[in-house]
Amino acid sequence: MRLRHIKNSEEIINKNPYIISDPYQYKGKWNKVFNNENPIYIEIGMGKGKFIIENAYKYPHINFIGIEKYSSVMIRALKKLDIDNIPNLKLICIDALELNNIFDKEISLIYLNFSDPWPKDRHAKRRLTSNIFLNIYENVFIDKINIIQKTDNYNLFNYSKEQYLINNYEIESISYNKDNIPLDNITTEYEEKFLELDNYIYKIKALKK
Ligand code: SAM
Repeated sequence: MRLRHIKNSEEIINKNPYIISDPYQYKGKWNKVFNNENPIYIEIGMGKGKFIIENAYKYPHINFIGIEKYSSVMIRALKKLDIDNIPNLKLICIDALELNNIFDKEISLIYLNFSDPWPKDRHAKRRLTSNIFLNIYENVFIDKINIIQKTDNYNLFNYSKEQYLINNYEIESISYNKDNIPLDNITTEYEEKFLELDNYIYKIKALKK
């Protein structure tokens, strides 16, 4: 994603009611933030937020937290949230490397949608399915580890599949958009673009008990 510097973006996002600007204080206590015991799903690298916002509208009995590294990107998601009040949605502007300092055994599902593929070998550790990140995810899940990943990048798809298997995940399912796109599929901004280009989209559900 091309990043344009937006003046005062950090200041602007920290004033927004959807943003949790000091997420560390809620480690182990996220149900208090939502004021209920509903399951919590997170999307890492939410970009402009279409997927997480539409999910929050559609599934009011699930709590959604969107994670995005860059405030200049997060600000674009906030523009979609100008008016409505969505009680089951919160957003955090942080690097996913921090996740196990923010959550402690309280997440039920992680979505990884069109994560940056980092094609060069020397950047492999930045991929959100590298060993480094899979280790971090271990501590955030309440019970079994559940990851749903979508990508149009064949190399990232293959790499991730291998990483899951090396780390003792079961691959619950793999599907391609040329099969059948489920009627309830909620698309992301990148997905819309890739569907228009008729790219293959790979979807992996991985779990570890
Ligand atoms: N998920 C969105 C979609 O499908 O439209 C955005 C996809 S975009 C290619 C990847 C996003 O992940 C970018 O917004 C990027 O800033 C974010 N990202 C990459 N690495 C991250 C990390 N370590 N922690 C949090 N966000 C990250």
